[in-house]
Amino acid sequence: NSPLLWFRNDLRTNDNPALHYFYQQLDPKQKANAIYFISEKQWRNHDWATIKIDFIKRHLKALAAELAIKNITLHIVEVDDFEAQVSYLKEYCVNNQVTDVYANSELEYNEQQRDKQCLEVDIPLTLFESDVIVPKGKIVTQTGHMYKVFTPFKRAWVKYVRDNGYQYLGAPWTNQHQLNEKSLLEQVSGDALAVSIDNSSEKWPLVYEVTEKVLPLFYKLKVKNYKNVRDIPSVKGTSGISPYLAIGALSPVYVLKTLLDKFPDILISSDSDEFTWLNEIIWREFYRHLLFDQPRLSKSYCFNDKYQGVKWHYDEKLFTAWCEGRTGYPLVDAAMRQLNETGWMHNRLRMVVASFLTKHLLIDWRLGEKYFMQHLIDGDLASNNGGWQWASSTGCDAQPYFRIFNPITQSERFDPKGTFIRKYIPELSKLPDKQIHFPHKYIKENRLSVYWPAIVEHKQARLDALAFYK
Ligand code: FAD
Repeated sequence: NSPLLWFRNDLRTNDNPALHYFYQQLDPKQKANAIYFISEKQWRNHDWATIKIDFIKRHLKALAAELAIKNITLHIVEVDDFEAQVSYLKEYCVNNQVTDVYANSELEYNEQQRDKQCLEVDIPLTLFESDVIVPKGKIVTQTGHMYKVFTPFKRAWVKYVRDNGYQYLGAPWTNQHQLNEKSLLEQVSGDALAVSIDNSSEKWPLVYEVTEKVLPLFYKLKVKNYKNVRDIPSVKGTSGISPYLAIGALSPVYVLKTLLDKFPDILISSDSDEFTWLNEIIWREFYRHLLFDQPRLSKSYCFNDKYQGVKWHYDEKLFTAWCEGRTGYPLVDAAMRQLNETGWMHNRLRMVVASFLTKHLLIDWRLGEKYFMQHLIDGDLASNNGGWQWASSTGCDAQPYFRIFNPITQSERFDPKGTFIRKYIPELSKLPDKQIHFPHKYIKENRLSVYWPAIVEHKQARLDALAFYK
């Protein structure tokens, strides 16, 4: 007769509501059990990138080792899909006389259906919420509806936190051990956790380094300058925490708490430099609250109904050129190569390439959303869907349809010397700064044959997009 802890998208011990409550029920001297399902078939169905899966597995290993110190065995079970998870869990609960299953809720539609199914077959599942700072459903308009515009949502969000605070649980146990990746990984092995060689996430340290070094340094050295450099892709001016938030290795409440520890007045005035960064965290909250309010977004619906029936163009050659970074627009191509080579892309570039696919090529945003998901280490349905629908103007508080990023002027503005372009397109590395943003004339005049022709002409594509959207 014992409870079971079910880890899902919450691969952490710090500030984990389900773990916290579970741990309170335990007799510390007795062995306890936790479970995690590896469901590759389901994950592929959801387009999870190999690098993201690798990143999850590394964190799982570390988590298993961390839990073992506290006498909790993390059973890592491989089953195909959500249906198989429910069957396995049902049998496990019966065979082991499990009294309660504790877990943190997941936001996406299929995940929610799976949890409903668990309850239908009498799995004693209790859910907590671990993926947002303000509980979903709490920030509503005076008429009780979800905000459809970000700025009033943000104001209400800030007010909510000022009035109600936030619930930070910290670590469930007091005597924390010093953890490092090497010693943790040495303790756990197993085929299910074999990491990918081709799509290794090794460049991203485990979350312990983020909380110990990366975030403190970001607060100390970078957050003040975030406003000025956040849009420059050649500068490491952003925090880099998105992959950790996406798999739940890092708690968003922890992020707010540590930020407030450093900048206690941040919620009083939204003029501060630090607030610019918090503003992005609130965007993340906005998209999660939105998906909670509108589960249909999980099923590829346009937020704005009037775009649902749009007949997007599809040209395989154009789509492939976009995917492979061969559009002939250097900033777009460098961005796609960053994604393909590293599994991450700078936010400014996500906006530029998403705009290019949907407005210059008039290709369905869902194809871009899928491609991103298949390649991003931080792939996250709520933020990815939100970002794509924003860029394609089909979404909630989206970019108006007539705002079409010019990939050349974006390049001149945010990569003036072509530093970023040169890194990812070495073919162009020797071009003069001024020419690098759209080098075709220069290449022709100098009889160089280093780069692809442009797949569309910007001015015409812009006019076509305006007519199409209208
Ligand atoms: P920072 O600039 O340091 O910001 C801190 C945190 O705030 C981020 O980690 C993230 O959690 C949140 N954040 C920042 N910008 C946004 C935003 N525009 N929307 C929502 N949250 C934000 N983010 C993902 O986490 N997963 C995705 O799959 C994803 N897909 C995107 C697709 C498109 C088309 C666009 C335009 C944006 C997408 N984003 C996505 C948002 C954003 O690009 C990334 O969160 C950001 O680049 C991550 O880098 P960082 O952690 O250094 O961010």
